[in-house]
Amino acid sequence: MTMLLEIDDLWVAYDHIQAVRGVSFSIASGEIVTLIGANGAGKSTILRAISGLQPITSGGRYFAGQDLSKWSAHQIAQNGIAHVPEGRGVFGNLTVLENLRLAAYGRRDNQVASDLDRVLTLFPRLAERRCQWGGTLSGGEQQMLAVGRALMRRGQLLLLDEPSMGLAPFLVKEIFKIISEINRQGTTILLVEQNAYMSLKIAHRGYVLETGEIILSGDSRQLLGNPLVQKAYLGH
Ligand code: ATP
Repeated sequence: MTMLLEIDDLWVAYDHIQAVRGVSFSIASGEIVTLIGANGAGKSTILRAISGLQPITSGGRYFAGQDLSKWSAHQIAQNGIAHVPEGRGVFGNLTVLENLRLAAYGRRDNQVASDLDRVLTLFPRLAERRCQWGGTLSGGEQQMLAVGRALMRRGQLLLLDEPSMGLAPFLVKEIFKIISEINRQGTTILLVEQNAYMSLKIAHRGYVLETGEIILSGDSRQLLGNPLVQKAYLGH
């Protein structure tokens, strides 16, 4: 199987703290892969290292066979990796539509209008609020707008950092349903979550991260049935 993303022995440090210690994993085209782990396990750091926002100590990062270490964060984004960071990053003083159109800025293909339709169909809430200022959306709606913006960039690989954080339970269900749908429509997804149950439910495979190291990996169904995962992450 050819891998869309390959991470090989990744090390990342903040001053004297080794936040990521020898992490290796891969994602095949078409998969949803989840990284689960407690606060501070290193999940966000790994996403930032992939998108070039975080300098690394050492390790290989390959996307569609290309060495990411040769690219800037801007080039990585331009070449198909869309990162939705924790804390969202929508423009508060632009409307929903302006936020979405701006995300497609610089695209040279002629499918921006149809992608906009697709995002508004995936997120009926955003369609209803298309003329509302980004800054006046609820937290959950801003989360949806952030994912919508990433889709407008036409990433081949979507990096989602805690998309369910701070959402009411019914919205958590909705956002995971939409993530599944985005994947079914052809986008490969790396999903970082503290909500291990929901993310393993929609992912094909998962990796469990503890203090910067992968301690377990496998098919999602296997991980959901694993006693250690159940005890530490599923509250059984
Ligand atoms: P959470 O689920 O709480 O977001 P996480 O698994 O995403 O956690 P990271 O944010 O990647 O974890 O953090 C990994 C470790 O690196 C933590 O110990 C954190 O305190 C540390 N860390 C993260 N960012 C910085 C920074 N800018 N400077 C110093 N230490 C940092």
